[in-house]
Amino acid sequence: MRGLPVSPGIAVGEVFVLDARDLDIEEVRIAPEEIEREEKRLLEAIAETRDEVLKIRTRYRSIVGEDLVRVFDAQILLLEDEAVLDAALAEIREERRSAAAAAHHAFARAIETLTRTENEYLRDRAEDVKDVRRRLLHHLHGGRRRSFAHIDKNVILVADDLTPSETVQLPRSKVKGFATRQGGRTSHTAIMARSLQIPAVVGVEEILEEAEHRDRIIVDGSEGIVVLRPEADLLRGARSRQRRYMEVSRERLRLRDLPSVTRDGVEIRLFANVDVPEEVPLAIENRARGIGLFRTEFLYFRDVEIAREEAQTTVYRKILRRVSPDPVVFRTLDVGGDKVLDPLSAPMEPNPMLGWRGIRISLELRDLFRVQVRSLLRASTVGNLSILLPMISTLDEVLEAKRLIADAREEVRLEGVRLPEKIRVGAMIETPGAVFLAPHIAREVDFFSIGTNDLIQYSLAVDRDNVKVAHLFDPFHPAVSAMVKLVLDAARDAEIPVSICGEMAGEPLCAILLIGLGARELSVHPYLILELKRIFSLMETGEARALAEEALRMPSAGRVREAVEQFLHDLEVRGEREKG
Ligand code: PEP
Ligand code: MG
Repeated sequence: MRGLPVSPGIAVGEVFVLDARDLDIEEVRIAPEEIEREEKRLLEAIAETRDEVLKIRTRYRSIVGEDLVRVFDAQILLLEDEAVLDAALAEIREERRSAAAAAHHAFARAIETLTRTENEYLRDRAEDVKDVRRRLLHHLHGGRRRSFAHIDKNVILVADDLTPSETVQLPRSKVKGFATRQGGRTSHTAIMARSLQIPAVVGVEEILEEAEHRDRIIVDGSEGIVVLRPEADLLRGARSRQRRYMEVSRERLRLRDLPSVTRDGVEIRLFANVDVPEEVPLAIENRARGIGLFRTEFLYFRDVEIAREEAQTTVYRKILRRVSPDPVVFRTLDVGGDKVLDPLSAPMEPNPMLGWRGIRISLELRDLFRVQVRSLLRASTVGNLSILLPMISTLDEVLEAKRLIADAREEVRLEGVRLPEKIRVGAMIETPGAVFLAPHIAREVDFFSIGTNDLIQYSLAVDRDNVKVAHLFDPFHPAVSAMVKLVLDAARDAEIPVSICGEMAGEPLCAILLIGLGARELSVHPYLILELKRIFSLMETGEARALAEEALRMPSAGRVREAVEQFLHDLEVRGEREKG
């Protein structure tokens, strides 16, 4: 089966199916002697679901506060609603339906009534009812996701999709790879897989129909191929490719001490993108100049305790101490979109990627933001820290966030913490709105960081997670180059540094183009640093600039890609010739 290769390497192991697809409700009549059993199952499932919602409510409250967890109260009330329960029990007894079918029908009526009302508020509540119903049906089917706790040996995870919170909780020593039905190259699941260095293929459409729990499987994350129940010779081939892949990885290590300079002696500063603290050592080993993007949201996914200021300050301090004297750019909480803190209880949004995410959440959940900023400031005394604001689309967001940071600074100072004179605050440029405001934003911040993952998503109108349109998510689209150029120019005029931190920065062909456009700082997955250094050593900035100028005039992504491929080919040939 084919899919998108999103994290290189080859894994061989046994399938662990995390869950099945959406639940089908079987409409068969039950036998009279089954009535009592089904009634009992329904009551038990309702009780379990109620417990589950209560737990989520408690957990979520510590993060978002009392107001926003009201939705769960409504869900609990629904589960306690006698009318709904009576209707479901009557369906079991009189219509001889299974507990699942009865619950499905009883709630369906409530959903229908709500959907038909004129009142917008009530209409929205229909989503809550659907959510409760989904939970309840999962309990009835025993169809909940298998928990990672059941993994006792080396497995390859197969799932419809992995949520970012699941990906960070993977027992890494036991999960050797994964294959999912959904996802795109820059989905956060894919990014996490690369961070954790687990081979992964996403967008494998038939995977859930074909894979059975405990099947033998090969996941080739370099080629985007998944083989189920392979024959012996395929298995042998995979094992030998696995060994070769490891050898090449070891060979690369020799590039570690090479400086990151182009053939004409221009330094390209390579920073590391880090999602979880465990990646910091690799960044240091591969001689990153610092951490150019620390995605703090993954800390929250892992451990809700992080919402407490002390716990958060401790984590930030540890990272800063480790990386010091090199800089660490901490990006403030960037949840929403595909990175919902709790997938079952996030507010339902018709277009999450265009909804409540990034800085928009921080400016609304002020306490959450305040605690994070206070933690960052308190940690800043032990290293070189910058704060980066995600998902900026207006100047006001920057100004407001800066005001909140200044307030927190004053608080912390009054508490007696001796803060560094200046703490740099930067803006992510990852919406077309921010690109065109870049000259204004540049006057308000100390640096820019271009997030090409979202910039491509928003400028080309292509969902970064949707496998159906993954072929349109093209970093070589001339519009992307044009926007990157605008931002680089605005930063140069304002004399502030700019780094590029989307996945594009780490892909050799794209990196060449970015250098040609004028980028001198890239922030990439730590394991990519070595290969990039090798390529920079082959190329001159002048020739890359000429290439980029040409690309800016081209009509299509295909043409740009071809030109850059040819350019790299010529570089490699020249390099070989000079070596030989
Ligand atoms: C980006 O959008 O390019 C980026 C670096 O941020 P994230 O991938 O976390 O959205
Ligand atoms: Mg982004």
